[in-house]
Amino acid sequence: MFCSIVEGELPSHTVHETADALAFLDANPLARGHTLVVPKDHHERLADVPSETATGFYEALHDVVPAVEAAVDAPATTVAVNNGEPAGQEVPHVHAHVIPRFPDDDAGP
Ligand code: 5GP
Repeated sequence: MFCSIVEGELPSHTVHETADALAFLDANPLARGHTLVVPKDHHERLADVPSETATGFYEALHDVVPAVEAAVDAPATTVAVNNGEPAGQEVPHVHAHVIPRFPDDDAGP
């Protein structure tokens, strides 16, 4: 499904894009600005991502986290990967959640 977003076949709100990764708003946000960062190539689990792509994925995440915090004036973020179905992974394409956090909110995992 996230391949369809990467290919532009499914609509999404792009936050950031590089050669290796795409960041877009989560369709069911836990907080305003909840963003997903995905490697563009399809890999189901973190350990499946080749190291070159993993580097690009991490670099995108590194840039997206402060951008999301600034966009919604959040003092912090939860950054999480549900890695495998028993861990709560519903979409089988590696993705990191970037969830803006505020004092005393309830948006955590
Ligand atoms: P998971 O449980 O796999 O870690 O999280 C999947 C996330 O993808 C959920 O937060 C869900 O809201 C989001 N999601 C599922 N389908 C779509 C979609 O088609 N577009 C967008 N933007 N987000 C989606």
